[in-house]
Amino acid sequence: MTKPAGTAGAYDIAVVGGGLAALFVADALADHARVVVCTGGKSPKPASSRSLGIVAQGGQDSPARLALALGEAAASAYWRWSGAAVALLLERADALGLAAQRSGSWRVSMGAEEWGEWQSSAELIRRWTEDAGSVLSISGQELVSRDVGQGFEGAVYVPTDGVVDPQALLGSLESGLQGRASVLATRVAVGDALADGTKRLHMETGETLECQLVVVAAGWGSAAVHPWFRDMLYPVRLQGLRTGTLSERRLEAPVLARHRFESWLQEPSGQLGFVGCRWAEQPEMEAGVTDDTVISQEVDARQRGFLAQHLPGVLDCGVVDQWTGIASVSCDGLPLVGPIPGDPRILALCGWGGWGLSLLAQAAMDVTSMALGRDDPETPSFLTPRRML
Ligand SMILES: Cc1cc2nc3c(=O)[nH]c(=O)nc-3n(C[C@H](O)[C@H](O)[C@H](O)COP(=O)(O)OP(=O)(O)OC[C@H]3O[C@@H](n4cnc5c(N)ncnc54)[C@H](O)[C@@H]3O)c2cc1C
Repeated sequence: MTKPAGTAGAYDIAVVGGGLAALFVADALADHARVVVCTGGKSPKPASSRSLGIVAQGGQDSPARLALALGEAAASAYWRWSGAAVALLLERADALGLAAQRSGSWRVSMGAEEWGEWQSSAELIRRWTEDAGSVLSISGQELVSRDVGQGFEGAVYVPTDGVVDPQALLGSLESGLQGRASVLATRVAVGDALADGTKRLHMETGETLECQLVVVAAGWGSAAVHPWFRDMLYPVRLQGLRTGTLSERRLEAPVLARHRFESWLQEPSGQLGFVGCRWAEQPEMEAGVTDDTVISQEVDARQRGFLAQHLPGVLDCGVVDQWTGIASVSCDGLPLVGPIPGDPRILALCGWGGWGLSLLAQAAMDVTSMALGRDDPETPSFLTPRRML
């Protein structure tokens, strides 16, 4: 490849970001175009490296809530699209030799209102699913006898969900790019376009890169990559803890509670991983917080209280690890997938609302099709950035 004078290189596509979204899309594009991946700086760490590894269909809102907000046709389209995302991620992990678990997941309800909503959601899911019989609704009593936890109103079992090791996935995708794409450990920002529409990216070093198309997959950092994202995304800090090894296998499937504010799983090591209770930090609930080096004592106290109440005994093994990570949330809570308004050469791939691992595989495939000018992908229209106009 010849370098135009004054630039650090010329490419077809620049992928901005070093997390799973960027690596997924770069992996899909690398054999079809000259791709450069700009992975950003060392701090904060990619949310991808902080994830619990739960791969769960749907979004923050239950299907019943989404159907109320957007109508049943849109809610079912989102359910199917996110189901494709879950299936793709688990298949990709398998193909990379990472042995994804297809465990399903429990969607537990904390109170009567949430349980009513989830029972309606279960009916909707059965209507939208071929294998309706595998979507189970079970009572709080049965959750106790199955050792899922106590003090819950009930739960819906979603059989298609699973678990992957996000660190292993990151490492495997990154090493798979070697020799197929240029990977630069630099932060970049999109600058002015040249007369022919070529995009210019400014690197921290002062050098520029030129490319025909940019995929912005930089998590909450996307707001600094291009001004359009500034009003569309905000950061939210999530906090996790990991216990010592439990003496027995208690949980076969991960659990999501309270509209996904809390989630947990028993890892293959036997340890319990838990993320949640950010609402304990009032009044902002960790929205706008970008420091991933601090552990909130308020959140920690609520997490321990939650575990003591609902999973008695798990804290007897002690807490051996605590961490935080920064998620990117869009202003309407749904992902941003596709060209930004007014600039078809800038494609968004961010805004996961704290559940990007579950959603990014299908979103990355959709963005790949858009970038390569293939047939229109079936991205639901309410996920495209155009909806923000
Ligand atoms: C504690 C925690 C637990 C989670 N658990 C789950 C879970 O169980 N299931 C689930 O589905 N999701 C989970 N998530 C969310 C999930 O991890 C993220 O949504 C997903 O990994 C986001 O991936 P990403 O590639 O979009 O962003 P990130 O992984 O955040 O990557 C963004 C990248 O962009 C780079 N960057 C930033 N600015 C620039 C710039 N100017 N130039 C170049 N690069 C830049 C950064 O360096 C980083 O590499 C969790 C998140 C956290 C924090």
